[in-house]
Amino acid sequence: MEKFETVSHIRDFLQPIKRSGKKIGFVPTMGALHEGHISLIKEARNDTDVVVCSIFVNPKQFNNPEDLEKYPRDIARDIHLLEIADCDVVFIPSEQEIYPDDKSENFDFGLLENVMEGTFRPGHFNGVATVVKRLFEIVDPDNAYFGLKDYQQLLIVYKMTKDLKLPVEIIPCPIVREKNGLAMSSRNERLSAEEREQATLLYETLKMVKIRSGYASVGEISSFVEQQFRRNKFVKLEYFEIVDMYTLQPLKTWASSNNVIACIAAWVGPVRLIDNMIIFS
Ligand code: AMP
Repeated sequence: MEKFETVSHIRDFLQPIKRSGKKIGFVPTMGALHEGHISLIKEARNDTDVVVCSIFVNPKQFNNPEDLEKYPRDIARDIHLLEIADCDVVFIPSEQEIYPDDKSENFDFGLLENVMEGTFRPGHFNGVATVVKRLFEIVDPDNAYFGLKDYQQLLIVYKMTKDLKLPVEIIPCPIVREKNGLAMSSRNERLSAEEREQATLLYETLKMVKIRSGYASVGEISSFVEQQFRRNKFVKLEYFEIVDMYTLQPLKTWASSNNVIACIAAWVGPVRLIDNMIIFS
């Protein structure tokens, strides 16, 4: 596997490959890799000729300084996992390489950012779009792979790519879960064994929501979810929303959309987790 730390070196390597007509698949990450990330690498491996993974903990997308400081980092282990997954190129840039003039861009995502993560993490999606756009400029991929785990982020990236007419195809990939149902996340590393067990409440609740969507109203389900979380003293609900899959606007009735997803965010001890489940589409 080739490893690069500078923009000029990775460009020098990738540009001739691109010019020769080979297809580049790209998986942007913040490291502390797990099977969720590796599933994206595998999808890219299947679809494209050269697989590139970036590892960059992007300060611009952290609205909480403690979250940034405590974000898990283990580059040696990440490199090992990428080698096993048959990744071709890893890009591990410094902040200076990504943001040489520390400029932030301002994106307008309209209604997509006025809900859920957009509400609770001000500036987060602007930071995500800034880094994804910059990484796309550097890597110039044909395909880029994103997890459905961060569903709102996926829609934001779709919109940015479409609005800016970037020549990249965005490929969504399914959520990878632990055996107990907990969605894999780098932040899970910060949970104790007890907290990891308690954190399954997010997935357990989403499963119950899906079953109840067959007979209960949207309002009844929201009350049910709040009650579930009130009973558990380890897990604090931040939001639960039943929304249209494309506009992300909250639904009052099932009949108001044909494509529905339930999204949840909750705190388990000091760690904030998100999860979601498609209810029907
Ligand atoms: P992150 O390193 O958390 O920024 O994630 C990098 C990419 O991996 C994003 O596209 C995430 O949506 C994706 N990802 C993270 N966790 C999972 C998971 N459990 N299943 C599938 N994709 C994931």
